[in-house]
Amino acid sequence: MTMRPYIVGNWKMHGTRAMLAEARAIDRAAERLLKVEVAIAPPFTLIHATRKEANLIGVGAQDVHAADGGAHTGDISAAMAKDAGAGFTIVGHSERRADHKETNELVKEKAEAAIAAGMNVIVCVGETEEERDSGKAEAVVAEQLSGSLPEGENVAEKITVAYEPVWAIGTGRTPTVDDIGAMHRHIREKLVDTFGEDGAAIRILYGGSVKPDNAAELLAADEVGGALVGGASLTAESFLGIIIAA
Ligand code: PGA
Repeated sequence: MTMRPYIVGNWKMHGTRAMLAEARAIDRAAERLLKVEVAIAPPFTLIHATRKEANLIGVGAQDVHAADGGAHTGDISAAMAKDAGAGFTIVGHSERRADHKETNELVKEKAEAAIAAGMNVIVCVGETEEERDSGKAEAVVAEQLSGSLPEGENVAEKITVAYEPVWAIGTGRTPTVDDIGAMHRHIREKLVDTFGEDGAAIRILYGGSVKPDNAAELLAADEVGGALVGGASLTAESFLGIIIAA
């Protein structure tokens, strides 16, 4: 890895204020781990408090609405998330693509709305097990990238891509290092096709069952610029284990 590794914790629908102690502990430790860029995406309800607890690490949202406001009961706009303290947002996580039927087109709109509000974005892509077994993984990811990546002036510097095979999320199963490397090289090619030279600098994270004991190996795969971590980001102890491995 030549770029500074970026390790992002996605807390998903976990966490009440009691969990702020974990954010505080991660932040304190981050002071000694400056070679790694660290961030957490807590649920919306904890963004403001996490931002106040944590001075060093990045804080982001897990999703935003594509509209900049209006009659959308229960939704949160990018400007609102930013106002609460989020510097970035995840978009297109497979759980949102599955649970909320989010399409590539909508993910792209959300990414563009977030960038317009002054945030960075982590755009998630990844194939299902069936798609991998039928040899379609690279084609699926290419289609997700071309449909979901935001367009606009100087957007490349705002983007991180996360490759998360759906079958590896929360399952304890991971692709081989060679398979991760192959997919990340494929993603790099698409990013360079799309953004030219700027596409070469976009970080590509791997996500899916990253744990302290496999992080060093997975992060050493070709073109892996960091990790998007779910379950193992929920305690400071396991998340720091991954950060140290990076
Ligand atoms: P996991 O989740 O680390 O629990 O597999 C990763 C993710 O969904 O971002």
